[in-house]
Amino acid sequence: MAKLKTRVDQDTCTACELCYDRIPEVYKDRGDGIADVVKCDIKDEEDNCWMIVPEGLEDEVREVEEECPSGSIIVEELEE
Ligand code: SF4
Repeated sequence: MAKLKTRVDQDTCTACELCYDRIPEVYKDRGDGIADVVKCDIKDEEDNCWMIVPEGLEDEVREVEEECPSGSIIVEELEE
């Protein structure tokens, strides 16, 4: 399976708690209910923090991407 990276769009996150309840290894409450990734592995040119999805959590991350009510979980394949 291709390696994945993920980030949260904090402008649209509605603090529903789903992602960090489900995958605390990847997502966390940044302090006010809005989600963030637990680790900033890659910073892009817009200053967004991406986390490389740990091996074995890819399917769960894809599920949460589908289930996030505001579509704020962003998942992309990691470029080698
Ligand atoms: S599932 Fe979506 S809306 Fe809910 S806390 Fe996570 S990013 Fe925010």
